[in-house]
Amino acid sequence: MSYKNFPMVPRVIFGRGSFNQLSEIISPNRLNTKAPFIYLVDDVFKSNTWLTSRISLSYDDKILYISTKEEPKTSQVDQLVEDIILTCKERPSGIIGIGGGSILDLAKAVSILLTNEGSAENYQGWDLVKNPAIYHVGIPTISGTGAEVSRTAILTGPKLKLGINSDYTPFDQVLLDPELTKDVEKNQWFYTGMDCYIHCIESLNGTFLNEFSKTYGEKAFDLCKEIFLADNLSVAESQDKLMMASWHGGMSIAYSQVGVAHALSYGLSYYLGVKHGIGNCLVFDHLEEYYPEGVALFKTMKAKHDIELPQGICANLTDAEFDIMIKVALSLEPLWENALGKKWKTIITPEKVKSLYQKI
Ligand code: NAD
Ligand code: ZN
Repeated sequence: MSYKNFPMVPRVIFGRGSFNQLSEIISPNRLNTKAPFIYLVDDVFKSNTWLTSRISLSYDDKILYISTKEEPKTSQVDQLVEDIILTCKERPSGIIGIGGGSILDLAKAVSILLTNEGSAENYQGWDLVKNPAIYHVGIPTISGTGAEVSRTAILTGPKLKLGINSDYTPFDQVLLDPELTKDVEKNQWFYTGMDCYIHCIESLNGTFLNEFSKTYGEKAFDLCKEIFLADNLSVAESQDKLMMASWHGGMSIAYSQVGVAHALSYGLSYYLGVKHGIGNCLVFDHLEEYYPEGVALFKTMKAKHDIELPQGICANLTDAEFDIMIKVALSLEPLWENALGKKWKTIITPEKVKSLYQKI
């Protein structure tokens, strides 16, 4: 038995208002006094001076506002890297991602592709990255994905939706300021929060579980129950707790894996462009067979917060279209193995996957 040796985020700052310390945190990492810091910022913050006025730009530092209407693509990473190389006189000092899972994954991928040649699509998979990334900082503005702490940067490529999983992917610095999540819209708060909840359920009920994953997963699960079911938390407490639940949920899947909901959700996302948080909720709602208690609690949370999921997403798909989604879902072998064990192929068939998609 050989155990995996994981890198972790080496520096993290937590606190309401800690965003004010960004400039003092990153400035010692400026190279050659002038090489720029490039900020990748969700364009939801474009005219939000409460946030942007606190980003202090010097020399050739730049803010690139990025739409998250669609989830990150390998072609988008390639384009950003090309633009950065063309417009910067020297290799940047660092990449700072400010946003949700989409922006955090983009920041990780861009920092890797600035030091590794070719297209981002060449690095989708496990341990394909050869050179260390440039300094990269993650600042979540919505909580749940765990992307701030994970060893992957999930991208949709021409062939697959798959992460760049490598020792060079985790951030060098994470800044956790729960105040930054204050304007997240309620449905989105629920969907991305449920990503964390589903990470816990899939990790805690998986066959890969060990005490390392269990400890983090149980903590995140308890926090999720407090946030989404109890009535005694202030808004600030709820924001603080969800940010830490996301962190623990992300840590929980380092040694384990996600499961059935994520496998099916990747298929929905790849073919229909359904975003991760809502996609997971759409799928998880129909997974009583695999996660009976987790799904029951999810339905209680959904009712408590008056969340109505869209219906009939897959109603008009042809067999050929179902096949594309089924292929993506079934290609994620580690997820199925975690969920159902080594003999998962005898339990889950293309027909079974189709019958689940048909319910959505
Ligand atoms: P997101 O980053 O796409 O953001 C969702 C929406 O919330 C966007 O419209 C965004 O503009 C908005 N938003 C973000 N912060 C806001 C704020 N403070 N105020 C108002 N609006 C705000 O969504 P997400 O759910 O955080 O991330 C989903 C992505 O994360 C997917 O691409 C998924 O593949 C990826 N993901 C990655 C990992 C990982 O470990 N790397 C894990 C899970 C999911
Ligand atoms: Zn997820």
